Amino acid sequence: MNFRQTLALLTASIAISLSGCSSQLVLPAYKDISSKTELPEDTLSIQYLGVGGHILSYKGTQIMTAPSLTNPHFMFSGPFFPLSADEDEIDQYLPDVSNVEMLLVGHGHYDHMLDVPYVMQKHAKKAHIYGSDTVARMIKPAIDNSRIHAMNDLMADSENPGEWVYGMSGKVRIMAIKSDHAPHIMGMKLIFGEVEEDLEEIPWHGFGWKEGQTLAYVIDFLEEDKSIAHRIFYQDAASQQPLGLVPQMSDNKAFDVAILCPASFDQVDDYPESIVKNTQANSYILGHWEDFFANDLGGEQRVLRLLDQEEFVERLEAVMPENSEWVLPSLFSTMNFDPSGKLIK
Ligand SMILES: [Zn+2]
Ligand SMILES: [Zn+2]
Repeated sequence: MNFRQTLALLTASIAISLSGCSSQLVLPAYKDISSKTELPEDTLSIQYLGVGGHILSYKGTQIMTAPSLTNPHFMFSGPFFPLSADEDEIDQYLPDVSNVEMLLVGHGHYDHMLDVPYVMQKHAKKAHIYGSDTVARMIKPAIDNSRIHAMNDLMADSENPGEWVYGMSGKVRIMAIKSDHAPHIMGMKLIFGEVEEDLEEIPWHGFGWKEGQTLAYVIDFLEEDKSIAHRIFYQDAASQQPLGLVPQMSDNKAFDVAILCPASFDQVDDYPESIVKNTQANSYILGHWEDFFANDLGGEQRVLRLLDQEEFVERLEAVMPENSEWVLPSLFSTMNFDPSGKLIK
């Protein structure tokens, strides 16, 4: 650990102790609703798994974004504390992901990657992983090379589209977008950098999981005739524009749903405004909002420490397209969307 990281970690520890801990959620949280009628076949379902994790399903095709269920206490996620996935916790709480064909990773931090090797080995056995070169190099020791896809050479930026990558069913495709990761605290990032060579073993402590190139994703679920049924934007870190912005696409398909990242949003300018104006979605999901440090997955969730939930929503609502809505999912709840991306209530 270098001097910059040591200083950042010390400052973060002090700031977090001084600010007390997480705070009560005051926003309305979405909870599962028992639907009176069967949901229509063309319903898009998104289940929130906490942190950056979601399961996205459409007509039997499923993909997921990197789940995080181990969630150690803040003090045990620092450098030189041995840290590994809590397999019992994953076995108990992870929903059935045996059908998942793609697992998307936005960046390599431990709260997005620690559980991924075990999840892919034991639960999502069909899934291929998509992430930065750094993510690919870190997971190599645990997962067969044929299931790992590095996206740095295929990613879009705000000016130029990237390459579509299709899942094995041909019914879902993704495009990685060059994005960014907001500083964690007071303008400083705690864990950053790239991994330049394939690792021999997966990282053994929290700081071993490097950020790498942070990516956002455009996800398209496709119909039999290859037309686009649903377009979704996903990111697992707040980004400083123009990083994270989706370029003009030739098909002009609108976004139904955009998954935003409230965590650390106040550490960059124009977030969430830049992404909201760029995506013009019908629904905005607020992901990565709960305090995941040693949280009880079966209990009530509190808001991530230092996150001003009301300011985030105030700024979001000020720029949301007319008739669009936001939804803050409670842990493990499933949100259902109609063909236009409206939340089914
Ligand atoms: Zn991160
Ligand atoms: Zn995170």
